[in-house]
Amino acid sequence: MTGFREAVIDLAAIRSNMAYLRQLVGTPHAMAVVKADAYGHGAVPVARAALAGGADWLGVADIDEALALRDAGIDAPILAWLHDPDADFSAAIGDDVTLGLSSLRQVQQVADAATELGRAASVHLKLETGLSRNGVHENDWAAVFALAAALERVGLLRVEGVMSHLANASAFDDQQALECFERGVEAARAAGLTPTLVHVASSAAALRLPAARFSMVRFGITLYGLSPFADATSADLGLVPAMTLRGRVAHVRRVSAGAGVSYDYLWRAPHDSTLVLVPLGYADGIPRQASGTALVHIHGANYPVVGRVAMDQFVVNLGADNPGVAVGDEVVVFGDPVTGAPSATDWADAAGTINYEIVTRIGHRVTRKHLNG
Ligand SMILES: *Cc1c(COP(=O)(O)O)cnc(C)c1O
Repeated sequence: MTGFREAVIDLAAIRSNMAYLRQLVGTPHAMAVVKADAYGHGAVPVARAALAGGADWLGVADIDEALALRDAGIDAPILAWLHDPDADFSAAIGDDVTLGLSSLRQVQQVADAATELGRAASVHLKLETGLSRNGVHENDWAAVFALAAALERVGLLRVEGVMSHLANASAFDDQQALECFERGVEAARAAGLTPTLVHVASSAAALRLPAARFSMVRFGITLYGLSPFADATSADLGLVPAMTLRGRVAHVRRVSAGAGVSYDYLWRAPHDSTLVLVPLGYADGIPRQASGTALVHIHGANYPVVGRVAMDQFVVNLGADNPGVAVGDEVVVFGDPVTGAPSATDWADAAGTINYEIVTRIGHRVTRKHLNG
């Protein structure tokens, strides 16, 4: 039965997306990116499904996210690449979490933690190639590579990988970034490092820029069955959206022409209408910007959200006649569009954002229900 507010995650879709993506790119390694609670889908079950589908690496932003996967008993290689200035690198090394490092300071901190533990840390050096976020800048490559090589020689560090991340700004910009990255990989090798995991592509470049595939690609949004491109749907890419956000009709109301709906009366009924109340609001990740623009799926048809989205609820207009919708019936906010429901991308378009944000922002009050695990 449909829950009051729930996100249903089809783990069979995660597995099949992963298997499909991996054979499509043909790289020796493929990472499933499960940061931010797997883009709102639930990190532990998604990580397991992605590994079952053929991923051989997991990627997260924070060390804490990696440790949570370890605590759940997942022993696959995990890379974490965004660190608190006072991060607990000892805990990461102790739990076999591979660290993406972006500065001389971080290399030194990790070496200190490795010294204390008496065991080598596995790291990937992250290079800045044009995104202007973290990553070692070209001016600092020589110093960082030299230090890393010296630490390798004394058994404190193992530089297993070299990585970067693209801006996806244009073909020209990505090409510049790739050339920069290749100079970096060459410089790392010249300094005596022997990285086997060379990776720069996330979903977009993995699919459309074969020159960016190297030895591993990192799949995030496509693992979840969503498209990173404005000009291609999930189905165009051969992917199945894994998340369905749904709830139950909390109230059905007949209103007269002229009735105002929700805060500020952004919308008034143009004629006598049947409205239904959906118990999801911006506390649950429903974008307030989609007030009056998005659609939801009830009894096989799509109906418009009318009036302001509130914290806990929003209103949908069924029109002049009630097609038989009753309290307790299922409302699909978004799901796989092959079912006729709006997609997460439709909601993103309605709210002026991207599908990544729509799924990732689903709040804690929404129950995650994992199917086909
Ligand atoms: C989030 C992230 C990814 C995944 O990107 P998608 O576009 O979702 O595939 C890959 N690499 C890094 C460094 C990231 O931060």
